[in-house]
Amino acid sequence: MRIPYTCPLAWIRPIVGRYLPPEVVAVRVPLLHLSNFQINDWPDLSAKSYAVMVLILPTESNRKWRDHELELVEVVADQVAVALSHAAIIEESMGARDQLMEQNVALKSARREAEMAMHARNDFLIVMNHEMRTPMHAIIALSSLLLETELTSEQRVMIEAVLRSSSLLAKLTNDVLDLSRLEDGSLELDLQTFNLHEVFREVVNLIKPIASVKKLSVTSIMAPDLPAQAVGDEKRLKQTILNVVGNAVKFTKEGYVSIVVSVAKPDSLRDWKPFESYPMPSDDHFYLLVQVKDSGCGVLPQDIPLLFTKFAQLRSGSSPSAGLGLAICKRFVNLMGGEIWIESEGLDKGTVATFIVKLGL
Ligand code: ADP
Repeated sequence: MRIPYTCPLAWIRPIVGRYLPPEVVAVRVPLLHLSNFQINDWPDLSAKSYAVMVLILPTESNRKWRDHELELVEVVADQVAVALSHAAIIEESMGARDQLMEQNVALKSARREAEMAMHARNDFLIVMNHEMRTPMHAIIALSSLLLETELTSEQRVMIEAVLRSSSLLAKLTNDVLDLSRLEDGSLELDLQTFNLHEVFREVVNLIKPIASVKKLSVTSIMAPDLPAQAVGDEKRLKQTILNVVGNAVKFTKEGYVSIVVSVAKPDSLRDWKPFESYPMPSDDHFYLLVQVKDSGCGVLPQDIPLLFTKFAQLRSGSSPSAGLGLAICKRFVNLMGGEIWIESEGLDKGTVATFIVKLGL
């Protein structure tokens, strides 16, 4: 647009002496920045900064701007704006590159620190694994041997207590190791083909001596359509079953413990509330459903959500705080694409522990 020579834009030199007002034009063009460009779109022209180009004709002559000259001025101004925008964009992208490089350096050092922490943790686990398990096994083995020698009844009671405590400590050491591997994601399932029936037979055989001392009846029912062979992590599955069945025996003074094993059907899965997305069995896998019922001390409803947290402080239960067993079971079961939950009508009303895991065929 033509602007009056008095406009501040045209004040490029002080006005002195006899003065012929010059013809002045100014062109305003948007100055674009990186942020004006969308990934798949034209630049957004609502720019916040502009380049203003002011042209003043020589004051000596009486020249006036003509239309074609004004068009030319506009074209030139556009070109200048493009050049300025380019410069601004290059400057910005260089700034962004510097910032990225700085972020990369920070990321690299954070990663190095995380790796160092991971190494320290792994070293600790290795030490725990070896240095603590070895003496523990020696204590267990030697006190078992000691029990076979001639002892006074007082000595026998003491050695039995040593054996019980060290077995407990060995279990806790193993649990802590498992849990920290589960938590840092370094524990992977070891998938093999195994005999499913054999796993349950072994668990029942392990549990029966303790149950018979407590005069508990232990029943185990395997559904007829249960596959004989399955593909999965046998050791972790056995550990989960043993923990759940072991709890049922541990927290039941009299009555029964029953284990029912079946293939989870999609219809019945819908009834299991914890399963929000109903998993569908296919030709290459199925869902194993294990339900362990007991007539034991039961769990208070408010304690149920806490059972799967480490060392939870419970209101019910014989011990003031829970162990790690169910916390580990939950992680194992989740790793195996399943879910575990506990139901109880309350204290002394017995408990039902159920879990579902995905196994290969
Ligand atoms: P731990 O048995 O070593 O305490 P778990 O994580 O296996 O650790 O169990 C957590 C808690 O859940 C137990 O301390 C107990 O209070 C409760 N619990 C688990 N199973 C049963 C059960 N069958 N009957 C009653 N309480 C149970």
